[in-house]
Amino acid sequence: MSSELRFTPSEISAYYAARVPKLKRVGRKYRAPCPVHQGKDPNFSVNAETGYAQCHSQCGRGWGMIGLEMALSIGATITSHSSQQWSNKAT
Ligand SMILES: [Zn+2]
Repeated sequence: MSSELRFTPSEISAYYAARVPKLKRVGRKYRAPCPVHQGKDPNFSVNAETGYAQCHSQCGRGWGMIGLEMALSIGATITSHSSQQWSNKAT
C-alpha cells in the first residue's frame, strides 16, 4: 500500500467519519455501508491504523484515503458500469 503520506489513527478515523456515513467502531476497525457503491449493509471496513478501507461487497476492492476520495468522486460512474456484472456475484 501507499506510504507517501502518513496519518495518525485519529486523523484516519476522523477522515473516514467525515466521509463515510454511519461509520461505527467494531473492535479495532470501523464498519459502515460502502459509500462508493452506496450499499445498505455494513460491508465496508476501515483499518484506522493503516488508513486502508475495503469494500467486501459490490466493489470487492480496497482504497487508501486518496484512492477513496477518487472513488467517491468517480464512483457513481464506475458502479453504474460494473454493477450489473457484480450483482450476480454471491457474497
Ligand atoms: Zn462498495
